Amino acid sequence: MLDVVIVGSGCAGNTAAIYTARANLKPLVISGHEAGGQLSLTTLVENFPGFPEGINGPELVENMKMQAQNFGAEYLHGSLLEADLSKRPFRLNVEGDWMETRTLIVASGASARWLGLPNEQKLIGHGVSSCATCDGFFYRGKKIMVIGGGDSAMEEANFLSRFGSEVTLVHRREQFRASKIMHDRAKSNPKIKFLTNTVVEDVHDVSANLVTHVRLRNTSTNAVWEQEVDGFFVAIGHIPNTAVFKGQIDTDADGYILSKGGARTNIPGVFHAGDVQDRTYRQAITASGAGCMAAMEAERFLEAEGH
Ligand SMILES: Cc1cc2nc3c(=O)[nH]c(=O)nc-3n(C[C@H](O)[C@H](O)[C@H](O)COP(=O)(O)OP(=O)(O)OC[C@H]3O[C@@H](n4cnc5c(N)ncnc54)[C@H](O)[C@@H]3O)c2cc1C
Repeated sequence: MLDVVIVGSGCAGNTAAIYTARANLKPLVISGHEAGGQLSLTTLVENFPGFPEGINGPELVENMKMQAQNFGAEYLHGSLLEADLSKRPFRLNVEGDWMETRTLIVASGASARWLGLPNEQKLIGHGVSSCATCDGFFYRGKKIMVIGGGDSAMEEANFLSRFGSEVTLVHRREQFRASKIMHDRAKSNPKIKFLTNTVVEDVHDVSANLVTHVRLRNTSTNAVWEQEVDGFFVAIGHIPNTAVFKGQIDTDADGYILSKGGARTNIPGVFHAGDVQDRTYRQAITASGAGCMAAMEAERFLEAEGH
């Protein structure tokens, strides 16, 4: 019988592991398909406090993991496949093995949607990004492209126009899904150019390990051309990793966990941490902060129950 199981080994899960391990609760962290979470996909992180020169994303999450292990946290490779949260102790199926736990911290993140281009994944962190707040600063005076047609694409384009010499917003349709106010704001921004009815065929140049240009196609005329780009931002949404809890933990229509205040979910003893609940901030530092909150709530819950 475990006291705390943490689902996810990103910033939220690792921070929850540091706190619960220091509280002597011997947490078990289930790493999931992406050990280290989204930061393991990126290169330099310049906005996590405490690192004046910045730190590489994979190193940052690995440091968090080692810190948690130093206090007794255990890490398990594999994914949570099934969960029975109908009664306590909760029952969890991790890669076919069932285990029981008194509390559960869900820190399973929200994965960025990608376009699925042949070179896209190879250039993440080398010009391809899904986070303007994180990476915009690297593209001062450079050519930026944003892909998408919703509010987040408009918001990212506006934000990135502070840095880039120009921002091209590429959308596959004529009409935008974005709200009128967000669309109007982007349209009135002199740095933003719109390319509608256009899809990206691929992003290059893998041999240079850097984004240098993209190949575009007009969906009405089928004309294909190349355009120079330095920063390529995909803004087509995120998928919260909550499918495994469907019908048990309350979520909104998109699958983000609905908070019942603090780090609490609708199920007593199940807590949320990080991007899996946060559709607004989605930063390493906010995910870590949320991991701390969830850990403290789990500690207090166990204490109140006499454990
Ligand atoms: C390319 C890129 C660059 C970024 N750069 C920055 C930056 O510079 N600064 C910054 O502050 N933020 C940055 N971010 C955002 C930051 O990475 C996220 O906000 C942060 O990682 C969220 O942490 P999290 O722990 O909530 O979720 P995640 O990091 O997404 O971790 C989720 C974890 O859950 C696990 N998981 C999912 N499903 C299951 C399951 N069924 N069973 C077990 N485990 C599961 C995954 O394996 C993963 O370990 C960047 C994001 C990306 C994609």
